[in-house]
Amino acid sequence: MALNSITVRVPAKVNLQLSVGPRESNGYHNLVSVFQAVSIFDEVTISKSHAGSGVTIAVTGDQTHGVPEDGSNLAVKAAQLIGDKFDLDVDVHIEIKKSIPVAGGMAGGSADAAATLIAMDALFRLEASREELLDLASQLGSDVPFMIAGGTAVGTGRGDQLTAALSRGTYHWVFALSTVGLSTPAVYAECDRMRAELEVAEPRVSDALMQALLTGNPTAVGEALTNDLQNPACSLRPALSLVLEVGRDYGALGAIVSGSGPTVAFLVADEEAGLDLAVALTASGVVGSVARATGPVHGARVI
Ligand code: ATP
Repeated sequence: MALNSITVRVPAKVNLQLSVGPRESNGYHNLVSVFQAVSIFDEVTISKSHAGSGVTIAVTGDQTHGVPEDGSNLAVKAAQLIGDKFDLDVDVHIEIKKSIPVAGGMAGGSADAAATLIAMDALFRLEASREELLDLASQLGSDVPFMIAGGTAVGTGRGDQLTAALSRGTYHWVFALSTVGLSTPAVYAECDRMRAELEVAEPRVSDALMQALLTGNPTAVGEALTNDLQNPACSLRPALSLVLEVGRDYGALGAIVSGSGPTVAFLVADEEAGLDLAVALTASGVVGSVARATGPVHGARVI
């Protein structure tokens, strides 16, 4: 019997390194992005609906504020893109159960797009190759291929040319969440503004980070975390500097703004240290809410 609905679980990401090259004439920046998939998950369910009904969408869960329920949702664009490629009449309903913070620098929209590609492939038995799926993913956004791949990976180009990174062990994270998101284009614009007078080098993968991941040493990984968008994000949202400081004071091994922010990620030694830091951050009053997670985890996967 043909299946009428498929659910895919997809993780959030944190950037262990985000290095931003000079602004190109087309407005883009070459990136080196070291991604780790972490255990905060959205669930995307795609169901077949009546012929002619097109793509409909509903968003549920604890993170729905600011997520569009129309054609501008990246999941709808993903369904249409894979439909065009495989000549399908795309009459589907997409339900996104969201737990990934919205506009938080954790690639929630990209994650939902990746999940949609995997769900559509399974639902319509398209048997698309991995390369075809990754190619469609990169057309939807530079973080989308990684949300299919998961694990730990280095992204170059716009961040979408992926190579798996060798990483040992499990990493424990505490995330300080903000109720109001930051716009990724606004953070890049602030980055360009702050660097206007500077000579900016092409980005390179951090040897210190690769070595730390290879040996599975969380202290060394904590010390090697870098993000060129951290200062711009803090410039637009000065309260983030205080959040970073509070986490460091409470013994985090590393503290970094996640992607374009405003989520702040703290790497801690183990689960117990994560619990302690979560309590301390909440009690400090400088953080709205916290989430704990581990990584690396798998990418978008049918459940
Ligand atoms: P990134 O880390 O890739 O820069 P982000 O985590 O900062 O992204 P998202 O959560 O992906 O940001 O959301 C950015 C904007 O994209 C939202 O404010 C919303 O308007 C829009 N959007 C479109 N589709 C989605 C989706 N499925 N989930 C969340 N936001 C979406």
